[in-house]
Amino acid sequence: MDRRTLREITGLTDPRGRVFVVSGPSGVGKDCVLDGLLSHPLRLPGLCRVVTATTRSPRPGERDGRDYVFLSHEEFMRRRSAGWFFETAQFGSNWYGTPRDALDAVCTSGSDAVLKIETQGAAAAKAQIPDAVLIFICPPSLDALAARLSNRATETVEALQERISQARVELERAAHYDYVIVNDDLAQAVDALRAIVLAERHRVARSSLESGTRDGAAIGAAKE
Ligand code: 5GP
Repeated sequence: MDRRTLREITGLTDPRGRVFVVSGPSGVGKDCVLDGLLSHPLRLPGLCRVVTATTRSPRPGERDGRDYVFLSHEEFMRRRSAGWFFETAQFGSNWYGTPRDALDAVCTSGSDAVLKIETQGAAAAKAQIPDAVLIFICPPSLDALAARLSNRATETVEALQERISQARVELERAAHYDYVIVNDDLAQAVDALRAIVLAERHRVARSSLESGTRDGAAIGAAKE
């Protein structure tokens, strides 16, 4: 009788969670799509959003530790030098970064991590974790995006203009992603994201089969 475990027989040795990176221009509705995924009636278990850090001021209704870890510029830079971040990026006049420990804690627990970060951060994540799944959320048109941003009224006129021109730069990077979802209809966008997560959960991780560990498994050891 073969006494090996199923994991030993199949060679599927990787117990770590996956990393899903969601990007898209400001105002495209990333939060709504992600909230739709995480509060779906057929909720996918083991999916954890990683709270990132920023130097930007909280918007009305945002809470420290829930929406972001809000840090002063000095504290952000101190932590950046100390290697506290998995990746950082400057976006407009503010800095953003993914706390390494928070990401590592989700992945080592076996849950899948969801990172909502901009395109430079997504590229840095892919460089460190090649099997991270990159998903880009696209607006139906630039006009629709501009209208949503100005309706949101969370930015000054200058910041709004900056975000619209930043959106063009981000849209040019969509082709580097693994998946693109057009957020024309929220329910359909949520369905598409859910389908991607489900399909990726059934994918055989090549690196896991070849070496017994996943590339980028040592998030804690990776250097920015
Ligand atoms: P907002 O100021 O609108 O909350 O975020 C601006 C952009 O920064 C968004 O695209 C958001 O996804 C991104 N972002 C949030 N946290 C991080 C992070 O930790 N790293 C990177 N690279 N981008 C982030």
